[in-house]
Amino acid sequence: MHWLTFDLDGTLADWPFRRLLRPYMQPLLEQPHIRQALREEYLHRLAQGDPIRVYDWGDIHRVVQEKLGLEPVFPPIPKLLLEAALDPGWVYPEVPAALAAFQARGYRIAIATNGLAKYQQVLVDRLAIPYDRMLAPDLAQAIKPQPAFWQPVLNSQVKKVVHVGDLLSQDIWGANQAGLTAVWIWRSMPEDWRRTPVHQRTQRKDLDRVIEERLQSELAEHGLVGQSSPNQPPQPDHIVADLEELLVILK
Ligand SMILES: [Mg+2]
Repeated sequence: MHWLTFDLDGTLADWPFRRLLRPYMQPLLEQPHIRQALREEYLHRLAQGDPIRVYDWGDIHRVVQEKLGLEPVFPPIPKLLLEAALDPGWVYPEVPAALAAFQARGYRIAIATNGLAKYQQVLVDRLAIPYDRMLAPDLAQAIKPQPAFWQPVLNSQVKKVVHVGDLLSQDIWGANQAGLTAVWIWRSMPEDWRRTPVHQRTQRKDLDRVIEERLQSELAEHGLVGQSSPNQPPQPDHIVADLEELLVILK
């Protein structure tokens, strides 16, 4: 059995959870002390490494709201996820056909997200993204880049697991440490990289610099679970701009 595990946000879809919450979050984020308190609560949870609490945005908001004595501004998140209008265009255009093609080739598909399944699964289903199972912190009791995140799909019948994701610090580091084939999907890939044939991209001399720069900006933005980072830089086995390129390299 072969598994293809896909990160969701930035890989299959353009951050649907964030897009839905943005109208409620924006007025908060414009107030520096609230923005700061939300980030501190997130980074505090990240440093503690508790996989379920890190990305529980509803709970992060509740804690900050109580700490700062704010009025409730969110509708209940589960209700919002079920009822709010979703734009099918949030799913990247080549994704539905590509996932169907992988399934037709016999691959099992997993959505492998650091967002909580209790939030993300509703969106994935409503956006009609096909999958066979979900991997998420509240299901695996681990978060990317922890290798244990993929444990639910690693068993004796599994011959190959390919993980595809946009974040070097979560997806590629995680796949490297778990011993999976690591595919970095670089949706904002510059034109000269796109012109480089897919199988030659990991040989480019400027790859190390690209990875170092992107890794530092990711760590500044998202942080890293736990206190220490792996010794080796993230090392993608393949670098693709979209899933159509992945269809070509994965037979
Ligand atoms: Mg992502």
